[in-house]
Amino acid sequence: MYLEVQDNTIILPTGGGGNWGPKRYENIVAHLTEDPPDHFHEVAVSRDARGNYYCSFVYDDAEQHEDDDQHKAHKRRKKQKQRPLRDEGIVAFDLGIKTLATGYTKQGRFYHIGGFKGYRYYNKQLDKIRSKRDKCKKKSRRYLHLSRVYKRVAEQKRRKQQDCLHKASHLIAHRLAERAVVIGDLSQRQMVIKKREDETPKERRKRQIRNRMVYNDWGLYSFVQMLAYKCLRFGKELFIISERDTTRTCHVCKRQKDMPLWVRTYRCENCGLVMDRDENSAVNIYQRFLAGPPPHTP
Ligand SMILES: [Zn+2]
Repeated sequence: MYLEVQDNTIILPTGGGGNWGPKRYENIVAHLTEDPPDHFHEVAVSRDARGNYYCSFVYDDAEQHEDDDQHKAHKRRKKQKQRPLRDEGIVAFDLGIKTLATGYTKQGRFYHIGGFKGYRYYNKQLDKIRSKRDKCKKKSRRYLHLSRVYKRVAEQKRRKQQDCLHKASHLIAHRLAERAVVIGDLSQRQMVIKKREDETPKERRKRQIRNRMVYNDWGLYSFVQMLAYKCLRFGKELFIISERDTTRTCHVCKRQKDMPLWVRTYRCENCGLVMDRDENSAVNIYQRFLAGPPPHTP
């Protein structure tokens, strides 16, 4: 509240003066290289290693066009106010294993939501406890003890995972300014690797890790459900559209090519596009939603 901005000049007050004793340093008057936003909340001033200073303004971009008076009257009325929504705003998400959700908006902005990270840590513990337990005699004291420990660790893992999904879906439903959320239809996706007779030990291990990931750890289906009811609650619309070929297609020239799961970057030989595979897929979902024939299944 003490900051004063006039055009491209910002005044950062220093301490002291008046009742506060001698003012030892003059106020800092800084020139900004860009116009600051109208209704900013906070300003952070930082300096890089070369000695350049930066002002970072925090603001809701959906608030920018609101009337001034109206803005002040509504401000702080409710502690947890509904966040302003952009009219016509659409955000399309690609849901995946490596990154839980990658979003793309009309403004060309990408959102990356990482998701739960501790699978390995917990799975290692769980496997160890189980193998120890299975070496004991059934119903022995040690067996029962290890069963209890196993249950406790598994519970902990499940809770962490759920918590993470709740936070991620809340972020999408409540914090993003876009009014419509678009995601791909998961039911068409073939994530599980089928067992083959002639698989090598390496392939076998890979299949086990992947299928454990999909069946036990991923939680994408509960994530979609959380997203559905949270969107309803915060007055957003959720659309689920077919995501067929969205990872395979180049979003610029529409050429298709095979994308094995381990290839993380999409490189188009035709038009030279180089992009993160999830980002490319999110753009495809976004474009398909805009182009596709309504009604989409909400
Ligand atoms: Zn291309």
